[in-house]
Amino acid sequence: LTLLTGILFSLLISALSGLLLTRHQRPGKEIMQGIKRGQFHVEYQPLVTAHDGQPYGVEALLRWTHPTEGMIPPDAFISYAEAQNLIIPLTQHLFTLVARDAQFLCKQLPRGTRLSLNLSPLHLASESFRRDVQAWINIMPTDHFNYVFEITERSMVGEKSAGEIFAWLHENNFKIAIDDFGTGHSALIYLEKYPFDYLKIDRGFVQSIGTETVTSPVLDAVLLLAKKLNLKTVAEGVETGDQAAWLVNRGVTHLQGYLFSRPLRPENLVSYYQRQRALS
Ligand code: C2E
Ligand code: MG
Ligand code: MG
Ligand code: MG
Repeated sequence: LTLLTGILFSLLISALSGLLLTRHQRPGKEIMQGIKRGQFHVEYQPLVTAHDGQPYGVEALLRWTHPTEGMIPPDAFISYAEAQNLIIPLTQHLFTLVARDAQFLCKQLPRGTRLSLNLSPLHLASESFRRDVQAWINIMPTDHFNYVFEITERSMVGEKSAGEIFAWLHENNFKIAIDDFGTGHSALIYLEKYPFDYLKIDRGFVQSIGTETVTSPVLDAVLLLAKKLNLKTVAEGVETGDQAAWLVNRGVTHLQGYLFSRPLRPENLVSYYQRQRALS
């Protein structure tokens, strides 16, 4: 049944990414070429501590500048890479790009800065995952960053070894965030089953704050649950001061969104940190 669901799911993904990505036929070769030709780069979006608005860490977000199509958003090419079996080489490339940026960033950002990376469930479940993570850590600056992997709810679906992989990540000092919480399969069960450190509240919830929808009681309940389970909470997609105030009032520990900063290139990220330090 799991296998069947998996197959149906990948079919759905390829159909969807086909729609999103192609006007004409696009062979998977393009991603590999894009890697070789340096068309990918990484931007870093700050996360701030809720009580003082000071930067706490960054999330690495992959960007693809296609030679003819221009900027292709990650929501389109990640699912495409997953469907084409290219997510592992693409994530290995992400690791390489982040390690390159980190040589510069470690001289500029405070020690202990949180560095989050998004992982695909397909990579997490793959045989090369631990090897890839170890190889990455070997090329990262020693002892400067605290690492977080962001994983969406569907990573856990049908994945028998998820618990084992999470335990291995913890042994190796990685924290784990459940990403886009509230958008995927009903995941309350996973919150008890797996040792998450952070719960990232999906942008959809944040956007509905202050509007006349029924979402706020659900969000209230999720935040209460997170507190009971001792999880730190990150609200994503915070765009207004009202949203931030509402979230801080309810004990959300970290905020992320355009209100604070858009995702930035390394040099601009460093300026952002300097400006914030000057303000504090
Ligand atoms: P995510 O992990 O939930 O990342 C947050 C997304 O929300 C980012 O979109 C970010 O630019 C956007 N965002 C942040 N603050 C705001 C805001 O205030 N308002 C609005 N409207 N949007 C905001 P982005 O960069 O387009 O990435 C989309 C998704 O693609 C990510 O969602 C993540 O799931 C995936 N992704 C990005 N980079 C990678 C990667 O390297 N590997 C994998 N596996 N997935 C990635
Ligand atoms: Mg994320
Ligand atoms: Mg997210
Ligand atoms: Mg999201």
